[in-house]
Amino acid sequence: AHAQPPRPAAKAVHKPARRIIAVASGKGGVGKSTVAANLAVALARDGMKVGLLDADIYGPSAPRLFGITDAPGLRKTDAGVQPITAHGVKLVSIGFVIKPGAPVVWRGPMVQGAIRQFMTDTDWGDLDVLILDMPPGTGDAQLAIAQDLPVDGAVIVSTPQDLALDDARKAIGMFEQTHIPILGIVENMSSFICPHCGGNSDIFGHGGAKDEAERLGVAFLGEIPLHPQLRTSSDEGTPAALGDSPVARAFLKAAKAALE
Ligand code: ADP
Repeated sequence: AHAQPPRPAAKAVHKPARRIIAVASGKGGVGKSTVAANLAVALARDGMKVGLLDADIYGPSAPRLFGITDAPGLRKTDAGVQPITAHGVKLVSIGFVIKPGAPVVWRGPMVQGAIRQFMTDTDWGDLDVLILDMPPGTGDAQLAIAQDLPVDGAVIVSTPQDLALDDARKAIGMFEQTHIPILGIVENMSSFICPHCGGNSDIFGHGGAKDEAERLGVAFLGEIPLHPQLRTSSDEGTPAALGDSPVARAFLKAAKAALE
């Protein structure tokens, strides 16, 4: 890999939390936003002061995941943009300003500027952790965020399939290029728990992310099963991490492992 310039811009940005953790994936649809939201909720339930910045300007997920889909707007006071709190997490998302489904036609630099502003102009208060829900993929936009913002570490979300893992490797490479430590991999949609019989089946294979984490020398933070309830709870705006299920415990365990 060729040498990257240091990250001078990142130092200039006010850091609103003790830890800023990017949640990323090599491609869309692997459950990155679901995992980001549930990690945030799990840590908030555990007593931490948590914020979530939805950096996916073209496809914001926080409104749906946290049940705020009426585009209430973001109020600005002298202290800054007021985040919206849901399930104990302070949130900012472009989806609170723009109606769901309305296309965002901004160009790259504007998107970059919006994300930076969300980080610096929001009245986050005193945060222990800020979760950054990255846009999916490993293109210029993601690289710019990684270089521009003071990110302390990255959690990579992957499904067990080889293809998704290839993409996950790319995501890992991107953070390494920008000298951001990889905190670990979460394997999502790991195995399928049948809601009828309770049986387990490995639809996308199983354990691929764990093996890959070992090969790459990064931590394996845990696996989240493919479960219809995870999708319905996400769609209803009540993240699974709110409950007392094995899945809720898995999210808390992964979140704590990432912070270790
Ligand atoms: P991404 O952010 O990677 O694009 P999302 O978090 O938006 O992915 O998830 C894509 C879809 O898959 C959503 O409908 C979500 O509810 C669903 N989903 C994510 N993880 C799981 C899971 N473990 N079990 C069932 N459905 C899931």
